[in-house]
Amino acid sequence: MKKVLVTGATGRTGSLVVKKLREKSAQFQVVGLARNEAKVKEIFGSTDDFFFGTIKEKGVVEKAISGCDILVILTSAVPQIKGKPEPGTRPEFYFPEGESPEEIDYYGQKNQIDAAKEAGINQIILVGSMGGTDENHPLNKIGNANILIWKRKAEQYLIDSGIDYTIIRAGGLLNEPGGKRALLVSKNDELLKNPPDGIPTSIPREDVAELVVQSLQIKEAKNKAFDTISKPASESGENVKNDFVNLFKQTTPGL
Ligand code: NAP
Repeated sequence: MKKVLVTGATGRTGSLVVKKLREKSAQFQVVGLARNEAKVKEIFGSTDDFFFGTIKEKGVVEKAISGCDILVILTSAVPQIKGKPEPGTRPEFYFPEGESPEEIDYYGQKNQIDAAKEAGINQIILVGSMGGTDENHPLNKIGNANILIWKRKAEQYLIDSGIDYTIIRAGGLLNEPGGKRALLVSKNDELLKNPPDGIPTSIPREDVAELVVQSLQIKEAKNKAFDTISKPASESGENVKNDFVNLFKQTTPGL
């Protein structure tokens, strides 16, 4: 039985990871870290097995991680829409004071990795984003906050920590059912630059959550970092069985 801490557990992908791991209660005991009690109650029905606080405070992470074997990092700075955009105009985004990518995606993740190291955690799964090789990526322009640059810096910090890692850099996230699409893996934003047959560079959050769960169980996922997108689902919506061992075998160590 492995005890897993999931941070960002009220997030759209983090909450799916918590639910999937709770379904495997013979293998995993799950605890969540979140900052909003009402949101936890709304998503999970109760606050059982939850810790509360901000990942900006290392002490908060230390408390939640105590006694765990594995850490899953699903926190992220969340951009907010500025004002009320006029119909037909593009919304502008900003990061709230104290919640910038530098503070959340770099220092917040660093806090988690440092606390994990001190707690003797032996595996960390980190979900990040594709696009980090391109300084001029439009996501870096949101609030001029370089979100992908800070995320990538944190990924390097994790690799350098010496803890076994799996870094999953997703394409555009979709709120669509999982298990309906063949997954693809690659590196260095190759899938963004040259998507096979020009397919959309996206992936359902449920499939990303499944990749996290599989990473905890398949040794070929250890010490690997990769980009991932999905092929489109078939029109009939039939299930697709991905061979996760084979997928992870295609991935490589290092950023
Ligand atoms: P999300 O719903 O935005 O969740 C982010 C989580 O981080 C939330 O639970 C949020 O808490 C938590 N958080 C933020 N600041 C925190 C703090 N100071 N202390 C504690 N928790 C904090 O995430 P997602 O959209 O599922 O994305 C998952 C990951 O994939 C992210 O790293 C994201 O950047 C990446 N990604 C996103 C896309 C995309 O298309 N959106 C594409 C590729 C990769 P609250 O619930 O309280 O807000």
